[in-house]
Amino acid sequence: MLRRAFLAGAPLAAQIASPEESFRFGPSAPFPGSPILFSFAEKTPAGGWMGRTVTFGLDPVSKRWVGLAAVGLDTKPGVHVLDLGEGRSYKVRVAPHLYRTGRLTVPPKFVTPPKSVSERIAREQAIKKKVFAARSERLWAGAFGAPTDTAQSSPFGTRRTYNGKTQSTHQGLDFRAVIGTAVRAAGRGRVLVAEEMYYEGGFVVLDHGEGLFTLYMHLSKFLVPVGELVEKGTVLAESGSSGRVTGPHLHFGVQWQGLYMEPGTLLALKIA
Ligand SMILES: [Zn+2]
Repeated sequence: MLRRAFLAGAPLAAQIASPEESFRFGPSAPFPGSPILFSFAEKTPAGGWMGRTVTFGLDPVSKRWVGLAAVGLDTKPGVHVLDLGEGRSYKVRVAPHLYRTGRLTVPPKFVTPPKSVSERIAREQAIKKKVFAARSERLWAGAFGAPTDTAQSSPFGTRRTYNGKTQSTHQGLDFRAVIGTAVRAAGRGRVLVAEEMYYEGGFVVLDHGEGLFTLYMHLSKFLVPVGELVEKGTVLAESGSSGRVTGPHLHFGVQWQGLYMEPGTLLALKIA
């Protein structure tokens, strides 16, 4: 049974009366590429979702056991299951979602990188692979916050053609940002990367634990060292226009256990 069906018209006391009815998830209509927050009224073991493990932790404000995950961008719409084992499973309907396509023009060296940088690109790929394999304890708590105070520009999930050639998917959300704009931590986490990379330019990665990472790209100045534990809202860096860009902006990405999610939906998500 779906959430909508058993919440309709039911008084709150009835909703939490049985273990099954203590289950909630948000957003109410998750879609391919969306984050998904599961929660239960009572202590909950780790569960299986999309072939990965969701860990539950007590939210200090709502006192509910919450687990944050993502719906893979390539996931087929329809019913998917959160499996807690021992016969406890919960159905979630993933709604269809339409992503746009777009064309961009960038310097040719970012579409066909010169041979001289192939070693660098390979080295940076190895660093990213290692970083994103980290599985630490949960560091985040409560709602996430936007990395800048500025407006969003290019959305997540757009299929992009660079210079009429390379196709890729935009795996983050862009924010307008003149060079030097303060870039803030979206949540509590540890700095795993603060360095210049070929495509990302000035690049910061925060580890929020449980395989959840936020990524900040095209930066001009780093303001936190690798290894530092930062709070939500800490200024991490200044924005810039480094790496594969068409102009100054902040690219903000969110990854959960290898799945990129739509950051705007995460920022709007109520943690409870
Ligand atoms: Zn971007």
